[in-house]
Amino acid sequence: MKRFPSPVYISRPALPDISDMTRKIQDIWDSKWVTNVGDQHKLLENRLVEYLKVPYLSLFNNGTIALITACRALRLTGEVITTPFTFPATPHVLTWNNVKPIFCDIDPVTLNIDAAKIESMITPNTTAILGVHVFGTPCDVFEIQRIADRYGLRVVYDAAHAFGVEIDGVGIGEYGDISMFSFHGTKLFHTAEGGALSCKDPNMKQRIDYLKNFGIKNEEEVVMPGINGKMNEIQAALGLLVLDIVESEMSKRKVLTEVYKSALDGVEGLRVNGDASGAKKNHQYFTVRINEESFGCSRDEAHAHLREHNVFPRKYFYPLCSNYQCYKYLPSSSPANLPVAEAASKEILCLPLYGELTETDIKDICGILLDARKKKT
Ligand SMILES: *Cc1c(COP(=O)(O)O)cnc(C)c1O
Repeated sequence: MKRFPSPVYISRPALPDISDMTRKIQDIWDSKWVTNVGDQHKLLENRLVEYLKVPYLSLFNNGTIALITACRALRLTGEVITTPFTFPATPHVLTWNNVKPIFCDIDPVTLNIDAAKIESMITPNTTAILGVHVFGTPCDVFEIQRIADRYGLRVVYDAAHAFGVEIDGVGIGEYGDISMFSFHGTKLFHTAEGGALSCKDPNMKQRIDYLKNFGIKNEEEVVMPGINGKMNEIQAALGLLVLDIVESEMSKRKVLTEVYKSALDGVEGLRVNGDASGAKKNHQYFTVRINEESFGCSRDEAHAHLREHNVFPRKYFYPLCSNYQCYKYLPSSSPANLPVAEAASKEILCLPLYGELTETDIKDICGILLDARKKKT
């Protein structure tokens, strides 16, 4: 008999009680208003402005459309400096805006874009910096803003991992010109599919709201070439219920993170992803870096061993975006330009973390991970 008879994935969505959702659906049925900024949408937008501590927020049908819209709203052109250590959506939104992604190496500790290397990548065609708060660890937002101000660049953040993260009590979405949050089912807070953009300027909020609704200003005026990025009422209703349980989900994950840390901290060749920034964390992910030589087996061997035991970790982020067929040809994609990112992507492993797991589950997952070493000898 296997320790885990059914598969343990890296994430499971926090779901509210089905009876609460049924009641919400009944309200929507009664109103006969299923999309186009209905009551649920308005409520969720207001509650998230408060929760995320951001001046303005616009809800979207998913995070990728939101980020595509952010680039459009900022009229980005030419080249944008970004990170290769991210989900495919990050560079793809630039491509969908006819903007060339320029890959910059990452910081070995935070795994975020290395602010110290950004300046050397700036050319006369650069219009913005697109940072990703990887695993919820904030980018060096202050240094990035200083560089952007010096060169007249825009700053956009992919905050898909950073729901609820704060720096000294300031919402992460306050930094940069626009930040994108993803509410996909695999994220900490979710609406099944969904996302949002935060910004600080009321005119920008207006522009984003036009752009996500075909550019429609009123029945007779279409003021810009928009897209359909609207969140519907069923998504928003789910979001309102998930928002009620997100704090409890976060504290469960925090406890489990501590269990992981006490089982794995100090193991030779294994580095627990640390965030020493002092920012308010959200505990969305738990990752380790495996050094093959000192740990005794490679990341890929550990990954395969866990899978044999019905535990399904993920190699986030491997391969690097710079190694995708569609970006490999770029000069900035050369491994010589990205040594830190190349090394991290070969060592990183994202382990299961969600509120339904027990402390014993976590200890057993760690046991299986450490056993992967014996297999070799
Ligand atoms: C999930 C994710 C996205 C995409 O968000 P969707 O809501 O799924 O479109 C973008 N960037 C990062 C870093 C992500 O993790």
